[in-house]
Amino acid sequence: MTSQPIDWAERFSERMNRVRASEIRELLKLLDQPDILSFAGGIPDPGLFPAERIQADYAAILADPALAAQALQYSVSEGYLPLRAWIAERMTRDGMPCEPTNIMLTAGSQQALDLIGKLFIGPGDTVVVARPTYLGALQAFNGYQPAYRDLPEGALRGEPTDLPRGALGYFVPDFANPTGVSLTLEQRQALLEMANALDMTLIEDAAYRELRFEGEATPTLLALDIAQSGGVDNARTLFLGTLSKTLSPALRIGWVCGPKTVIEKLVLLKQGADLHVSTINQMVAHRAVSEGYDQHLHRLRGAYGHKGRVMLAALERSMPEGVTWSHPEGGMFVWIDLPEGMEGATLLARAIEEERVAFVPGAPFFAEVPSANAIRLSYSLPTDAQIEEGVGRLARLIRRVTAE
Ligand code: PMP
Repeated sequence: MTSQPIDWAERFSERMNRVRASEIRELLKLLDQPDILSFAGGIPDPGLFPAERIQADYAAILADPALAAQALQYSVSEGYLPLRAWIAERMTRDGMPCEPTNIMLTAGSQQALDLIGKLFIGPGDTVVVARPTYLGALQAFNGYQPAYRDLPEGALRGEPTDLPRGALGYFVPDFANPTGVSLTLEQRQALLEMANALDMTLIEDAAYRELRFEGEATPTLLALDIAQSGGVDNARTLFLGTLSKTLSPALRIGWVCGPKTVIEKLVLLKQGADLHVSTINQMVAHRAVSEGYDQHLHRLRGAYGHKGRVMLAALERSMPEGVTWSHPEGGMFVWIDLPEGMEGATLLARAIEEERVAFVPGAPFFAEVPSANAIRLSYSLPTDAQIEEGVGRLARLIRRVTAE
């Protein structure tokens, strides 16, 4: 008997309607050719991974029978207590006094975004995001069928908005992906005031906060919120941290910090999702950050700061009039606004073909009203020489396209 082919698409749940393959991930697959200079991958420079340190930490844990027994065993969904205590202390020093009970470990901050979506977003609920915003957050939230609203421009100047009450707001205040731009203190205050007035829940994604290479740190949204509300348990802001950009993304160590009432619910969701973050990875991460972490961060800031400045100088030297770009003080990204009418996606196809240079087109980073004439460049992976050569090629192409 021959059976009918199964129509899988028809069987998938309705929430899958918005879940699609990321254009960026599809595109990154094409970039393995060695002659392409790529500014596309926004991932840490592997040359900066503390591999020896991590090797020594795994070895020390596995060599000790009691530690090995613990490290290779199941553990609690909240996360390894010494690591949560280290995080709480570090956040307290960064203006966000909190206890280990305010913190839950997640498999990178990406999992925190998913669990937060599950906890807060029902079909049609409003999620407010920046224009543009982190694509991975949109991917995590999409499965919960939100209605997106772009943050109105005036909101950051304290102007009233037409946003509904009770929405979830997601923001990357420090060195955002994809723009590299940070919110000023005044903008953070305006955002918090808006959230207070509209009774919003704020998600602060601080993935790049530790990678400041210029200027002074600005208080986090959660710090401002705690100062006003009297404590993290009264705050409306959930803070997402990660060791992915500083130690290693493969360890999959991220966290949520927020009111205990919210953390308790997230712990139940985490339990249902995957029980807990890898015990041995949490123990290794704890050992790795317990000693010499600040020197390590100093080295990272030096390295990314250097490459960021090389890219900004190259853009200054070679880009034609009509092209503008962000001036990041940290993180891994520069956002380029192309001349009116020049599409990022079209430019990419030609850039790969004609100049063997790649980047990420800006359009997928917009949630509500798209904008096509922008691109994202990352300086985290290429060498100085590659940055200079690649920016030169890109500028040559933009000039050529403008002249056509
Ligand atoms: N937030 C932002 C803004 C990011 O850029 C990334 C990584 N691309 C993440 C969260 C997720 O990182 P991880 O899950 O490795 O912590």
